[in-house]
Amino acid sequence: MATEYTCITRKIEVHLHRHGDSEEDTQRLKDEYHIWDVINDNLYKAANRIVSHCFFNDAYEYRLKLHSPRFQEIEKLLRYSKRNKLTDEDIKQLKAERKELFSIFKKQRLEFLQGGSGKGSEQNSTYKVVSNEFGEIIPSHVLTCLNQNITSTYSAYSKEVEYGNRTIPNFKRGIPVPFPIKQQGTLQLKRREDGSIYIRFPLGLEWDLSFGRDRSNNREIVERVLNGQYDVGNSSIQETKNKKRFLLLIVKIPKQAVTLNPDRIVGVDLGINIPLYAALNDNEYGGMGIGSREQFLKMRMRMAAQKRELQRNLRHTTHGGHGRTQKLQALERLEGKERNWVHLQNHIFSKSIIEYAQRNDAGVIQMERLTGFGRDKHDEIDSDFKFILRYWSFFELQTMIEYKAKAAGIEVRYIDPYHTSQTCSFCGHYEKGQRISQSTFVCKNPDCEKGKGKKHSDGTYEGINADWNAARNIALSTKIVDRKKK
Ligand SMILES: [Zn+2]
Repeated sequence: MATEYTCITRKIEVHLHRHGDSEEDTQRLKDEYHIWDVINDNLYKAANRIVSHCFFNDAYEYRLKLHSPRFQEIEKLLRYSKRNKLTDEDIKQLKAERKELFSIFKKQRLEFLQGGSGKGSEQNSTYKVVSNEFGEIIPSHVLTCLNQNITSTYSAYSKEVEYGNRTIPNFKRGIPVPFPIKQQGTLQLKRREDGSIYIRFPLGLEWDLSFGRDRSNNREIVERVLNGQYDVGNSSIQETKNKKRFLLLIVKIPKQAVTLNPDRIVGVDLGINIPLYAALNDNEYGGMGIGSREQFLKMRMRMAAQKRELQRNLRHTTHGGHGRTQKLQALERLEGKERNWVHLQNHIFSKSIIEYAQRNDAGVIQMERLTGFGRDKHDEIDSDFKFILRYWSFFELQTMIEYKAKAAGIEVRYIDPYHTSQTCSFCGHYEKGQRISQSTFVCKNPDCEKGKGKKHSDGTYEGINADWNAARNIALSTKIVDRKKK
């Protein structure tokens, strides 16, 4: 069995290496930055050329189909097979003939792309275009990687382009510059005698890696690549607008490398008070809340106000005017912004949950199944909660947690949400009204102490964090269900 691995991208700042202090060394550094600038000034143009030729190649075949009367006839016959009273046998024959025509078009397409040479593939045809024009200024290794990246991503959505659902992309200066990280099997990430680490880029450019404060522990990962623990994929170097350059290192981490405790479970409670609360099944303290209701409501209010303003303006604009189109576009942009914000929050939240599980060495994450969610928890659903349910997209959040967990080697289970917020996670006692407020839970079982929290001098109890209690119940639950209701 092949090793399963997860790809991660690490962003590490790089600088061109200064080989010494002499004047020649200074000149060399200057020259090398100039080489790099020229590559950057031209690479996006090469990328645009490649993608337009990908489109052209497809369009050529499309035209062949369009200009073949027989092909068009067959298409029409098949489309209205009932009206044309075709028998099964007719359909079979027509489909066979269409298939034959397809392969003829494919052949003609390739012949055309080969320019009569009878040699080369489709990928070669786009490479030929760019190497012809940029071969002198962009290293061939870079062009090859670029061509591979663009042609393979283009083929993934070429049908959508054909159907008009999208257009070809437009590349701008500053796209990542791809390069082969291995040459003839030799890793181009290297360590010098003085211990410094660099990337050997085509044309002899050496990029020094600088880890800075290294909050994301990049050095450790690079060390593991150097000692062969992790493999790497073809990477790139990207220049930002403020002239900083970053290595985007693609690291393949074997899934087996992760060994987490399969008996330790993180329970994740989704709610409105605190969007996410995590707790462990085997720990009576701990737990972590992520995000806040206030932050969410503030954002909601700001966006709602902007929207109202736009809608009001729209009503005052005459029909069909240029201003109206602009305002409609602005409204669309705003809605897009709203979605993006929720999406980004979900990314941040899901990442925090995975990190919490990893920090605690937990091999399992348990969450509530969302069906009927909200009703079991609260006797009535307040309007804020309804809004959050609709916009927050807990479903998306769970999906993100699921795939990120998978990548980290963590199992995800769904549990029956029944009474998770109204049951005491210490003694298991269930009774209505134990969640005395949105944020506080007090166990009503007279024999239970831990579920009541601190005792005040007047005999009342402080209670425990209600979200934490629910998260613990979720972590402790053994009522495993399918994610979607059967
Ligand atoms: Zn209790």
